[in-house]
Amino acid sequence: MEAALWKIIWTQKIVHIVLFAALIVAIVVVFLFRDRLSKRPLIFKVIRYGILVVSFLYAGLYLKAQPTTTNIAIAISAAKDGNFPMELFLMEPFIFLSFAFIAISAVIWGRGAYCGWLCPYGAMLELLNSIAGKLKSPWINLKVPPSANRVLLKFKYVALAAIVGLAWYNFMLSEFLTEVEPFKTFVLKLNRQWYFVVYFIVLTLLSMIVYRAFCRYLCPLGAAISIPSILKNFLPVSKLKRRALCVSCKVCAKSCNSAAISAAGIINYAECMQCFDCQMIYHDTHRCTELMRKNK
Ligand code: SF4
Ligand code: SF4
Repeated sequence: MEAALWKIIWTQKIVHIVLFAALIVAIVVVFLFRDRLSKRPLIFKVIRYGILVVSFLYAGLYLKAQPTTTNIAIAISAAKDGNFPMELFLMEPFIFLSFAFIAISAVIWGRGAYCGWLCPYGAMLELLNSIAGKLKSPWINLKVPPSANRVLLKFKYVALAAIVGLAWYNFMLSEFLTEVEPFKTFVLKLNRQWYFVVYFIVLTLLSMIVYRAFCRYLCPLGAAISIPSILKNFLPVSKLKRRALCVSCKVCAKSCNSAAISAAGIINYAECMQCFDCQMIYHDTHRCTELMRKNK
């Protein structure tokens, strides 16, 4: 009896599957030790940027391990006929492993474990932002006024609802809408029609002018991953540390590029990218006012 095609694919790609799984394990280890690592900002930054480079270059450009809402649309379209295309998903081992990580990490840590660490396009944006931030240009990382931010955050859910809704009735149209994500152009290294390339460049530049604008405002996949965190009874199991006085001192909120910390000092896990900046401040005896007060 012949082996199933997906098993043959997994056997052929076993070395890269192990390496990709090692990348996921490295991220999990960082999250398990995030409290200790947050006390050592230099070591943490080396590890963080190392992982981001691997996610961008190796996972993204080499393995093309970039899940998209097309995968979700395929699952919904097949569900209409009472199937779940498990074999189809298994034939793409890196996409399969990415979705497995998303499903588990979104419940434990929220959206940021994937969006802030493993997503190849997100990793590229994060790296570009860090490099551009060094230029200290007034056109980089502009802050969006809170009222506009609140409205813009909803756009990604509209994009997700349109893709998911259409997948049920008209798969082709839904597939077309998934082009809102620049992922195909990204993994194909810009080897596509000029209008896709222009869209990719515009979106990427916009995401440098406003910190990760695509991820925060438009990405339907990011919206799907945020769903557990917007359900009140389903907040991440493992939360970031806060102090009682985080309501009055706004130092973390001001330094959070994702604007994920509210005026009341509450973290919105649907927007938090798990960059751990606020956790490093939490342990910083020169920046955390509550810590300074305690030490006195
Ligand atoms: S929001 Fe979308 S592009 Fe951004 S990191 Fe998340 S999945 Fe990737
Ligand atoms: S600084 Fe903001 S994005 Fe980073 S971990 Fe804290 S709340 Fe999340």
